[in-house]
Amino acid sequence: MSLKGKVALVTGSTSGIGLGIARALAAQGADLMLNGFGDAGMIEDLRAGLAKEFGVRALYSPADMSKPAQIAAMVAEAEAKLGAVDIQVNNAGIQFVANIEDFPAEKWDAIIAINLSAVFHGMKAAIPGMKKRGWGRIINIASAHGLVASPQKAAYVAAKHGVLGVTKVAAVETANFGITVNAICPGWVLTPLVEKQLEDKAKQQGTSVAQEEQAFLSEKQAMMKFTTAEQIGGLAVFLCSDAAATITGAPVSIDGGWVAQ
Ligand code: NAD
Repeated sequence: MSLKGKVALVTGSTSGIGLGIARALAAQGADLMLNGFGDAGMIEDLRAGLAKEFGVRALYSPADMSKPAQIAAMVAEAEAKLGAVDIQVNNAGIQFVANIEDFPAEKWDAIIAINLSAVFHGMKAAIPGMKKRGWGRIINIASAHGLVASPQKAAYVAAKHGVLGVTKVAAVETANFGITVNAICPGWVLTPLVEKQLEDKAKQQGTSVAQEEQAFLSEKQAMMKFTTAEQIGGLAVFLCSDAAATITGAPVSIDGGWVAQ
């Protein structure tokens, strides 16, 4: 399939899953609005590298997903400079792990802002243009934790359950405008977000990161292997295809059997 002529905005695409999705969409010809934090030189290399490798236009916005005005400005910038936001991937996310009684209120607020509220603000900004053009694909990156809980992840689990709720509302509201809105629910993917949890756990338990990888997988996933960012990119491309034109409001699991158990 080709996404040539489409513009994709992917939040949190300087790393991990977002980067995998941006690469997969660019490989199909989509122009990109990249976003996320990181070293300015690294981000410029990434932007220029993607543009060159795939022959697409690629811009970068440093918008902070905890700031609604910056989210709206990023969408407006993509529309002004690239012509549209046809594909919106709301992916940026953070994690913090503690029991509820020890969970800092400011961590709760930050996770709800970045992992949940940013999805609402992003869709609010992008849907009017999609409706006008009669075509749009919104992909919200939820998690297996949008469907089931784990201890010590109160804010993350609450945010991801919320992402599934707002995905369903958006899907129903846009159902007859050529727009689909779905949520991808990954299990474990070996990205910096998970590597930090593995390192912290290994330190706590006096084990190795390799041992913790096995422990993480065996605790949750029937398949004893991580999903890759490339595989999630492939799923995002499928959700943008004509074959997926009537998939909407769906939580799509890609989790090695996590929520099947
Ligand atoms: P990651 O840490 O590799 O990447 C997160 C990205 O979000 C980075 O580009 C970072 O700069 C960006 N970001 C963080 N805060 C931001 C902010 N305030 N504004 C703008 N950008 C910000 O993590 P990842 O594992 O690739 O996670 C991506 C998404 O996938 C998250 O929503 C996460 O919850 C979800 N997810 C990850 C896993 C996993 O196992 N890694 C599983 C399920 C869901």
